[in-house]
Amino acid sequence: MSLDTLRLVLNHGGPGFAQFALNNACNANCGFCNFARDQFPKSQWKYVERQGGLDAIDTLYKNGVRYLVWTGGEPTLHPNLIEFTQHQTIRQTIRGMRPLKNVPANSLGCNSSCLPSLAWI
Ligand code: SF4
Repeated sequence: MSLDTLRLVLNHGGPGFAQFALNNACNANCGFCNFARDQFPKSQWKYVERQGGLDAIDTLYKNGVRYLVWTGGEPTLHPNLIEFTQHQTIRQTIRGMRPLKNVPANSLGCNSSCLPSLAWI
């Protein structure tokens, strides 16, 4: 257990966890979901702004969050996902992860060059 974790446990009951919705866009078509591509028009897709996302990661960290889940929509469609993830990597203390429910490589918004950046997750 790191000193950072120990401090968070003693002072706050433990490190925090957050789900960060990066967008409302999705290229999948799950029948129960309002973000499904046949339900939600592409014209209404929205993405967290790059600087706003980076600032939010800093804010979460400052407030004790050490476990972060990218979600959406489909977070791999976000054009700044790699930068967000590398920002976390630099900080070395927030651990990023996402469910692998719909990650066939051909459906990733980022192309195959982004996969090595996500491999540590
Ligand atoms: S993958 Fe997730 S966000 Fe996309 S349609 Fe299915 S449930 Fe909705």
